[in-house]
Amino acid sequence: MPSPTLFMKMTDMLQELGATSSRREKIQRLSIFLKGLDEQEVRAAVLLMSGLASSQRDRGALEVKGRILQRVLYSTSQTTLEEPELTIVGVYDQLRRAASIFGAGSRSRKEAIISALLSHASEVEREYIVRMVLGELRVGLAEGLLLEAISKAAGVERELVRRAYTLIGDLGETARLALKERREGLMRVGVRLFEPVSPMLADTAPDLESVFRMHPERTIFEYKLDGARVQIHRQGEHVEVFSRRLSRITPSLPDIVDLVLRSLHVQEAIVEGEVVAVDEAGRPMPFQELMRRFRRTGDVQEAIRRVPVRLFLFDILYLSGKVVLDLPLSERRRILEEVCAKELLAPMLLTDKLSEAEEFFDRSIREGHEGLVAKAPDARYTPGWRGKGWLKVKKAETLDVVIVAADRGSGRRHRWLSNYHLAVRDSETGDLLEVGKTFKGLTDEEFEYMTARLQSLKIMDDGYTVKVKPEIVLEVAYDEVQMSPHYRSGYALRFARIKRIREDKSAGEIDTVEKVKELYEAIFRRKARPRCSDRRV
Ligand code: AMP
Repeated sequence: MPSPTLFMKMTDMLQELGATSSRREKIQRLSIFLKGLDEQEVRAAVLLMSGLASSQRDRGALEVKGRILQRVLYSTSQTTLEEPELTIVGVYDQLRRAASIFGAGSRSRKEAIISALLSHASEVEREYIVRMVLGELRVGLAEGLLLEAISKAAGVERELVRRAYTLIGDLGETARLALKERREGLMRVGVRLFEPVSPMLADTAPDLESVFRMHPERTIFEYKLDGARVQIHRQGEHVEVFSRRLSRITPSLPDIVDLVLRSLHVQEAIVEGEVVAVDEAGRPMPFQELMRRFRRTGDVQEAIRRVPVRLFLFDILYLSGKVVLDLPLSERRRILEEVCAKELLAPMLLTDKLSEAEEFFDRSIREGHEGLVAKAPDARYTPGWRGKGWLKVKKAETLDVVIVAADRGSGRRHRWLSNYHLAVRDSETGDLLEVGKTFKGLTDEEFEYMTARLQSLKIMDDGYTVKVKPEIVLEVAYDEVQMSPHYRSGYALRFARIKRIREDKSAGEIDTVEKVKELYEAIFRRKARPRCSDRRV
């Protein structure tokens, strides 16, 4: 039996890749490297090179934050290495082991494993392990590049590898299959009941005009429902519900299971839609309410009573033994309409007229939803991909806030102050109160610039967070104002992202807590309000 491939062989190859800017050259070197590995090693290497993130089912499980890793790095003493010891499979196994630890004391156990691993690593190996743990292995190993290298190494078309990957949701397993079983193995990959398929995602369009530029023909508009994506698998009386991240959430949704058994008129199917929290009148409630349904581990019946939900279906991937995700959306929608009760269907409009789309958009907002998703009628269902086939259009709201502190970045952002603490003003006391944090929306150059400016405004530095004089004003977009017990302001901006650095504004001109409160209250002109006893702030 050949001896296991050393991890060093992979880091050497990655260093070479880092030194070349030619895409072709990178693919060539990668494919030669992959060909030299055995089955188990191919899977491990590909998962490591894609930051362990491409096994969608395991995503996020490592959960080792930059801060912990820094501590581990400082406290790990390095033994002098006589000979390189780490193997590709060994490194992968240890990282997976760390990733699978949950619950009390998990942090220190994760730290111990990573620390042991690092103590057997050379300087270069350490660097790569750290980058892999952080999921930020930026040597140009984007998924696209790995896919091409896999297809070259296996001698099969890229499309076939990509199709298998989208269905399997695990790039490592895809690579293993491609190299071991070639074309035949890849062709066999299909959709199986009770094995969730990675959901197709939507790109963003700034407005409806741009939708018509991107979908010049007629477009299917659906309400963008503000809930949780669900993929429902049914075979006879057996129903399972999976979340967007492919976890099984059936136990939280027995009412949805009943509904599907009653209203989906087919024995075998995989359908997709959105579950939305609603009040007694059926009006949507804020997203935060729905989350209570999933967090609750105790009395499910009580949760059902307190947070009733509605199901809106918008897609079908599989029907009675046939995979239908390769059919155009217009076909899939027609099938869906045939097999499920009308009241379960997400409202839709097929049009090529801007005025009709605008009217439909307003209706969606008026009824408490988020906007629209525009879907190209001829688009196939592409699992796990965010493409132009689906475009979401939302009502944009922005606030002007000031930066009061910034955290040091990790991984690729480690040189920068990149996570900004955002505050608004309390107009009565003049205090600045935080409403959220974000690192989204800036280019690398802007991060450089902001880091220098923030350093010049430094008041205090604890090694991780730098408190600054409140001078830099940002315009941030967000999805929704939520109540929050974490911030003194009482509110948090959901998914805040930076639209602009407002050099033209001073901290005296930022928005106030009262404005944030108003925006929060405004939600209830469209949505139902959580019952008083349920409110936590
Ligand atoms: P995003 O999470 O920003 O990529 O937006 C896509 C998400 O919007 C999906 O994962 C769904 O949970 C949600 N969504 C709401 N309404 C629809 C719809 N009609 N079609 C597809 N996705 C929808």
